[in-house]
Amino acid sequence: MVEKVYITYNDIHKLCQESAPRILDEFKPNLMIAIGGGGYVPARILRSFLKRPGSTNIPIQAIGLSLYESLGGDVVEEPGTKVTRTQWLDLSSLEMANLIGKNVLIVDEVDDTRTTLDYCVRELQKDVEEATKRLGREAERTVFSIFVLHNKDKQKKGKLPKEVEEKYYLAARTTGDVWICYPWEAT
Ligand code: 5GP
Repeated sequence: MVEKVYITYNDIHKLCQESAPRILDEFKPNLMIAIGGGGYVPARILRSFLKRPGSTNIPIQAIGLSLYESLGGDVVEEPGTKVTRTQWLDLSSLEMANLIGKNVLIVDEVDDTRTTLDYCVRELQKDVEEATKRLGREAERTVFSIFVLHNKDKQKKGKLPKEVEEKYYLAARTTGDVWICYPWEAT
């Protein structure tokens, strides 16, 4: 059986606290995109630690992604490789314009096979690129960065764009291939 590791709200608060200076220094986010449901609470906690006196809070946008696993049948798929959007950004010019030229921090709780983060970054990049062209704002550069509480040190199925992986990725903790139990899941 896979080992379970229990995390408390206080652990999470502290992981956000200790990561905030690096996020401010290295990613300088203007906007957060929280991947639901696991990214919501960390993003909200992080927002307080990222707040600079005299400036406004960093806005948080929410998206919902779910890793689809085929249950068999005619269509054969690799388990856990297909991500479905349960909630996405409004792709109207007005909404996408908010992202163009910004430093956008994507927040999730755990990087397991990396399938979700791979999908998320690439799709966001694609949508922003389209909007950038449509609005004639090619001079502005949008930079995506990633923060997760935990990264599992294992063979990943997903791959992040090189620049994101090398410069714009932060995991507060690296773990083995364990099952992490987050407090918000407790019933
Ligand atoms: P991925 O395999 O795409 O990196 O992770 C997909 C999703 O599976 C994560 O966002 C998370 O919701 C869930 N997940 C993966 N590993 C764990 C874990 O150890 N604990 C919990 N609670 N969820 C996990």
